[in-house]
Amino acid sequence: KETAGRENNVAKIKVVVRKRPLNRKELSRKEEDIIDVHDSSFLTVHEPKLKVDLTAYVEKHEFCFDAVLDEHVSNDEVYRETVEPIVPIIFQRTKATCFAYGQTGSGKTYTMQPLPLRAAQDMVRLLHQPVYRNQNFKLWLSYFEIYGGKLFDLLSDRRQLLMREDGKKQVCIVGLQEFEVSDVQIVKEYIERGNSARSTGSTGANEESSRSHAILQLAVKKHIIVKDAKRQRDRDANEAKSTKAVGKISFIDLAGSERGADTTDNDRQTRIEGAEINKSLLALKECIRALDNDQIHIPFRGSKLTEVLRDSFVGNSRTVMISCISPNAGSCEHTLNTLRYADRVK
Ligand code: ADP
Ligand code: MG
Repeated sequence: KETAGRENNVAKIKVVVRKRPLNRKELSRKEEDIIDVHDSSFLTVHEPKLKVDLTAYVEKHEFCFDAVLDEHVSNDEVYRETVEPIVPIIFQRTKATCFAYGQTGSGKTYTMQPLPLRAAQDMVRLLHQPVYRNQNFKLWLSYFEIYGGKLFDLLSDRRQLLMREDGKKQVCIVGLQEFEVSDVQIVKEYIERGNSARSTGSTGANEESSRSHAILQLAVKKHIIVKDAKRQRDRDANEAKSTKAVGKISFIDLAGSERGADTTDNDRQTRIEGAEINKSLLALKECIRALDNDQIHIPFRGSKLTEVLRDSFVGNSRTVMISCISPNAGSCEHTLNTLRYADRVK
């Protein structure tokens, strides 16, 4: 009943590809840029190959997506293309998810980091509009990580969290800390706090964080003032507050897609983590496809990641997949894998 027309303007599933520029190392090695972005939705990968007699040739692969963003596109433009159109409908009972997918070093974190802050900026502005202010809408933030199939709260000293399903089949992460955020500066501080709590092993930050999925959620809730009748009689002005979920957006910086292939590594722990990542990325693809086909049965149970996102995959939901790709010839195989994954999601 609520502004159905406006909601329909935002596609249920949107697949966007973002190409990063060649970095200094790649440039110094004189690596070739093999990605050609033709227009806002087409790209070609020029795969360098060798014939049996060792003469070089190029195999072309063409792809088409909802949007293809080249190396000149700013983070601000990425926001406008992906998240901005979704923000208003979060206030109208929509659950949305925005993923960054791609190999380690392809620009997932670079792409995802500014998005929640920009979204929060717009959400805070909407909160102050009379229509929402009068309904007592508030913004809440949580930030956690899935690492090796386990959940850790990034805003409470990496406390391990457990998932539970309530009677209404709603997933609930027991003990996950949520914070009410009324201005953007506070949001920024929580994000920074969470970032510094991300998995960093002895091997260095990027190495370890590439094996985990980081999930930052911004939820809109309606605060209901419950007046306790007995206390009222006592003329006690105390009011018990309770909240009701309205909508939510989750920003997910996925584990490096190449990590799913770590299943033959010499290290047992790495193999286990690799298998878990592989499972979750496959399950994610299956869930998004099921959503797209309006299937009744969504296979959430395939992994921890999809189970956690279960409530965002049912009912009125929106999904944006940002597939990040490296432009250099040396990444060709991973790039093709990423584009094929995105192609199947679309
Ligand atoms: P990932 O999270 O996928 O492992 P990062 O986001 O850490 O990759 O990016 C790897 C490096 O490339 C970082 O130094 C980052 O600053 C840089 N980078 C990524 N994307 C871009 C871009 N679009 N423009 C400029 N630099 C980028
Ligand atoms: Mg990263």
